[in-house]
This record gives sequence, structure tokens and C-alpha cells, in this order.
Amino acid sequence: MLVRSATAPVSSGILLHPFTAGAIRHHRQVSSHHVTPAGKLYPVTGEQGCYTEGMHSIKEIFKKGPGPSSSHTLGPMNAALYMKHRHPQADAWKVRLQGSLALTGKGHLTDDILIRTLGPATEVTFDLKGTPVHPNTMYITALQDGEELETVQFVSIGGGKLEINGVPAANTPEIYPHSTMAAIRRWCKEQDITLDQYVDMVEGPGLNDYLDDIMDAMLASVREGLAAEGILPGSLKLKRVAKELHEDALACTDPDEIFHLLLASYAFAASEQNAAGGFVVTAPTMGSCGILPALIYHFLHDRNYSRAQLLKGLKVAGLVGNLIQTNATISGAKGGCQAEVGAACAMGSAMIACAAGQSDGQVEYAAEMGLEHHLGLTCDPVGGYVMIPCIERNAMAALRCVDNARLSRHILRVKHERVSFDHVVEAMNITGMKLPMELKESSLGGLAVVIPDGCDSQGQ
Ligand code: SF4
Repeated sequence: MLVRSATAPVSSGILLHPFTAGAIRHHRQVSSHHVTPAGKLYPVTGEQGCYTEGMHSIKEIFKKGPGPSSSHTLGPMNAALYMKHRHPQADAWKVRLQGSLALTGKGHLTDDILIRTLGPATEVTFDLKGTPVHPNTMYITALQDGEELETVQFVSIGGGKLEINGVPAANTPEIYPHSTMAAIRRWCKEQDITLDQYVDMVEGPGLNDYLDDIMDAMLASVREGLAAEGILPGSLKLKRVAKELHEDALACTDPDEIFHLLLASYAFAASEQNAAGGFVVTAPTMGSCGILPALIYHFLHDRNYSRAQLLKGLKVAGLVGNLIQTNATISGAKGGCQAEVGAACAMGSAMIACAAGQSDGQVEYAAEMGLEHHLGLTCDPVGGYVMIPCIERNAMAALRCVDNARLSRHILRVKHERVSFDHVVEAMNITGMKLPMELKESSLGGLAVVIPDGCDSQGQ
């Protein structure tokens, strides 16, 4: 199939500047100073590995959009918007989905979002025979009067991000001069600043407003999920449980049990909203969108943390997600669920440790545990829906985040840290590559082949 170049910038507000500098990460000679968007000049003194290009703004990690999947819904929606902007005269569209998009696109509502975005004259084909260039590949063809205007290859790389004809598309420049936790921490130590201050310094003053808005959207996803009842869309006929779980929590007498149930109910609430195609925030993906919102809701409403404390934590969570995306992947189709829920658990653990005022060493330890103990976690959504095991898994990971933050406060006093966050990210990447495709968002293995699609109304 003919695939023509499509690297020109568009101004849809979704994809503004396709990144054309070649490979995302390559070592380069750096000058002795780096200017941040905030206008500050700071020195970079380096050793190999510290100054790799490739860290975009953390705003790229947190994006609002319709669920249930950042790679299968948000990415395709952005691709469709891109094509609509390039070809406003098109009167029909053909979309060919390959790899995981073809195998689980029905359950992930990929065809639905494409038709909603491009219009009813859209034909979506699930191509199970072709060899995709990436597990999440799609081709969109614009047509006018039956004639092809252009066919473009898109790869949905996770978190709603795209590669267009092999070129990464991004709407922010690479602004971070460091791309490993070790390099960042070393630099923070030299400058006598903390990780959240580092994020502030690099990102500039606009970040607080952006994250404030993101926090509101996260809280709304929990609130709306707690109020909703009924059956989630799709053939699983899975019942929403967040509201009842929340009521159970409020009826408990044991404080520890109350906290656990409340937090779990919030994660169920946001994840159920996502599964229903509701409006959620990638953190870092939509499949894992219940973890950070649940923690923020819980610490704000039940534990009297201030918004400012949680905002600091959210910055560090974004940094952790950014490092994982840069040095490994946040795509379930590429790395399994360790790349989604594992990444979110690392982010949430770091967020709570930071919000609690713990040291950067403890924050890193919490993040490291969040990812390390999800290594090897497979992605096997039953029926291709982001429901089983996804929803409950978000709740489990949210609970773990609190434990990780607590443990990290004490463990460094009694034990020497042998495993760094960077080590675990590297291990996750290697593990992800070794996982068979049946266990990476294809619904061809694991729970997806053991649990029948036609669950009863309880999803059991
Ligand atoms: S199992 Fe994990 S990675 Fe797979 S769809 Fe569910 S949340 Fe996403």
C-alpha cells in the first residue's frame, strides 16, 4: 500500500509539531549550560548516559480524553483528527487496524472512536493477517469521490502518542537535559534542590495551572464513577461496583479497613468510568487511569493532605512516568501490564512519598518498588475489554502505592539499596521484549483465554 510522507505540522491543537530530529534517544555532545523554559541557566557536567535527549514535558504524560485506552482510543482519535485536518475535503475514510489494535480494537472501542471522529462514511478493517511494524499500527486513507487522497501509517505508542510514517509526533519539544533518575538526582544534589523543584525549574511557571486542571479532571473521574451504577458496556456485562464498595467502606468501623476500602473504591470508580468510555486522564495510560486519581482523592478527602502537597507529588509522578516512557515503554501492547499498571504504581508510590515530605532517596525507592514488584505482569484483558483484570488491578496497585511510600520511609535506614529505579526500568524494558505477543494486549493468552467472554452479570 502506498504510504506518503505526512510530517508537515498541523494546527489541530492535538498534533502541532511532528518531531523530526530522528531517533528519540541518542547520545549527544552537550554544551556546558542548558537553558530551561523558565529562562534559568544551569550547568550540565556530564558523563555518558546522563545527557541523552528524549524527555518531553510531563504534560505529555497527563492528558484528558475519552476512555477506555490511551493507545487504542486516544491515539487513534488523535490520528483521525490529524487526517481530518490534512484533508478537510475528504468525503470518506478507510482505516486498517493491525496487531493489538486489530485483536482488541473492538473491546477497546477503537472502531467506535474512529467513526465518531471521522464520520459515518468510515470503513474500519481489522487486519489480522498483515505483519504490523509495531503492535499498535493503523493506516488511514482519505478518499474523495472514490479517489485516494493519501494513506498515512500511524503507530500508537502509548499514552495517546503517535508516530506518523515512522516519525515521532509530539506537541512539545524535548526540554529535559537528563533522562535517567541517577543523572537527575546527581544534578539535584549538586544544586541542592529536590525532585519537584527540578521539575518546576525545567517546566517553567505554566505547569502549576496545567496540573491543577489535570487534578480537577482526575477528581471528577472518581466523583462521577462513585455516583454511577449499572452494567458497563460490552458483552462481559460487568457490573459497576465502586458505589457499593464506597458504601461498604463508610459502614466499616475499623479505621484501617475504612482507609483500604475507600482507596480501592476510588480506583474502581475512575477505572469504571474509563471502561465505560468516560472522560479520564492518562496516568500514564487510560488502562491505568484509576491509580493516581484514587490516591489524590483519598489523601485530599480522607487524610487531610493539602492540594499543594499533592501537586508537588504529581510533578514527581510525572517525572517518574516520563523516565519510564523514555527509557522503556508505557504501552501494554509493547511491554505488557507492567508498562501500564506497573508504571502507574511507580508514579503513585513516588507521588505519595513526595507529598508526605520524604527525601528524594525515599521517593526513588518508593518508585523503584512500585515498578519492581510488577515486573513480568502480563496484559490479558478478557474479551478485549479494559475491565478484567484492569479495573481491580488499578485498585490493588493504588493500595500498594501507600505501602511502598510507607516502607520507603524506613527501609533505607536498615538496608543498602542495591536496585535503583533506572535498573528496574531497564529490566522492565527487557522483560517486555521477552513477553510473548499473546500476553501483550492481544487477548490471546492468560486470563483472556481462561475466562469466558460471556460472564454473568457479576462478571464472574
Ligand atoms: S491488563 Fe493492564 S495493560 Fe492490559 S489493558 Fe488492562 S490495564 Fe491495560
